[in-house]
Amino acid sequence: LGLSSRIVEEFTPALDSFRSFVDRELRPLAAQTCRPGCDKIPDDVRQYVRFRSAELGFYAADYPSEVGGQDMPLTAKVLLQDYAETSGCALAPVALCNAEGPSALLLSGTPEQRERYLRPLVQAEITRCLALTEVDGGSDAFNLRTRANVAGSGWEISGHKAFVSNADKADIALVYADTELPDGERAPAVFIVSMTSPKVSIGQRYDGLSGEPVFELVLNGVEVGLEHLVGGRAVLGKGVQAGLTSLARGRLLVAGMCNGMAARALALGIEFARDRVSMGTRISQHQHVQEHVVATRVALESARMMTFAAARRFDAGQDTFEYAAMAKLVASEGAVTAVNRMFQVHAGSAWIKGSPLESLYRQVRATTIIEGTSEVQKIIVAHAMGLG
Ligand SMILES: Cc1cc2nc3c(=O)[nH]c(=O)nc-3n(C[C@H](O)[C@H](O)[C@H](O)COP(=O)(O)OP(=O)(O)OC[C@H]3O[C@@H](n4cnc5c(N)ncnc54)[C@H](O)[C@@H]3O)c2cc1C
Repeated sequence: LGLSSRIVEEFTPALDSFRSFVDRELRPLAAQTCRPGCDKIPDDVRQYVRFRSAELGFYAADYPSEVGGQDMPLTAKVLLQDYAETSGCALAPVALCNAEGPSALLLSGTPEQRERYLRPLVQAEITRCLALTEVDGGSDAFNLRTRANVAGSGWEISGHKAFVSNADKADIALVYADTELPDGERAPAVFIVSMTSPKVSIGQRYDGLSGEPVFELVLNGVEVGLEHLVGGRAVLGKGVQAGLTSLARGRLLVAGMCNGMAARALALGIEFARDRVSMGTRISQHQHVQEHVVATRVALESARMMTFAAARRFDAGQDTFEYAAMAKLVASEGAVTAVNRMFQVHAGSAWIKGSPLESLYRQVRATTIIEGTSEVQKIIVAHAMGLG
């Protein structure tokens, strides 16, 4: 791993232990249950892997022990996320919590909310979805059209959400809404909404490039009390501060995932280039091929350094919003380019359905869009520099 290995050394025990779980349990299970290159992992296998990973303490290791986690530093979790993708085992990324798992938003929940919702999420006993994006507003995320209006001692929520991952299986939804405060003012807030409420329905399903679909979510006058407002009375009128911290955390985990995808692509490219012969020599001897490989290695090393440095800031309790944006920008754009370059090195054989690069090519594309597009990350950096 070159330069990054100095940072990695500190977390070697955690990484070795996760690696051994992947080798001992997940690779054999993947061989039995997942077709090579196929990203449709059976639901029961996913659930088993999450549950087993939670039991061993990996799934939501970065959450506090007070709610069933391991108090693992985010830097270490970022490293596990990186390894999960680098490993090439289809079930390894499933073993770490994602869009279905605990949300850092709930860390700012009341003690009752942490116990009732966060703990079972950390233990993989329930799943959730996050309903922020709306049909008319993706990047303009906090210009919310979903409204929570005062009704009795609580609120009535109505709105139409889009691109909601895991909506079909989730037990609860974390719903962002423009919220009426008791004094008549409005501010964004997050509510915990039961997916079994008769006033919540799943709308259109969209199948994307990768195996996981997204859904529209329709809220039609869902009534909720104060106990469903994340953070309770204390957060009323405070806007989305908890949301911003949780976005930085989520972006660093995505950056780790992206670095792992780039590393996996690079390994596949090097392996192929060393074997494949063209014009009388191995293609690894051709400088144009070396250019693809070397540029990818350098970009990956830079992205890893930025990601680890930002994660370290996060663990030290420093403001990370700008650094997480830069790391996510560099790691996701780097991963898309890495996979594209290694696809080119493999050429025709990468294009065949079921080849590892064909699958990576489809998986990686969403990374410059989820958790804020690359353009949104640039806006954050520009603002942090006093521009705009
Ligand atoms: C696989 C996947 C899973 C997702 N899961 C979820 C989920 O679980 N929950 C959820 O709430 N959302 C989810 N999303 C939605 C995701 O967060 C949005 O797609 C993303 O925020 C971008 O919004 P948009 O697609 O509407 O693009 P738009 O906001 O319409 O942007 C279109 C283009 O314009 C650019 N742009 C927009 N505004 C500006 C600006 N001010 N300056 C410069 N450029 C700008 C964007 O960067 C982009 O290139 C998911 C998306 C995908 C692809």
